[in-house]
Amino acid sequence: MFRVLSKRLFQTTSGLLESQFPPSLVHATGLEKRELIAKLEGNNDPYFGGPHKFTSGTRDDPNIIRSAFKARIVGCICEPEQFNIVWMWVEAEMPRRCGCGYWFKLVKVDPV
Ligand SMILES: [Zn+2]
Repeated sequence: MFRVLSKRLFQTTSGLLESQFPPSLVHATGLEKRELIAKLEGNNDPYFGGPHKFTSGTRDDPNIIRSAFKARIVGCICEPEQFNIVWMWVEAEMPRRCGCGYWFKLVKVDPV
């Protein structure tokens, strides 16, 4: 009798492991691993760095800026046809108004 079938049983485990997890997640550590896990959970912007649409932007309903730090640099495109960006620091507990009139408020979030 041949025993060819018994060899196949040992090869399936590693094949399953590689198909369930990307190889970089197995080797990643620390911050890189937490970023990859956040992306696997569907969070493609864990640092809230993408472009955001303006809310009403009034003092009572400011644009919310999320950060794990006490301050963050924000760029405001004041007019839709404008090509330059107005950069400013927004600090926690101190909402800031851009020259165009929109308000920004920093809200602290847990780090990735
Ligand atoms: Zn502005």
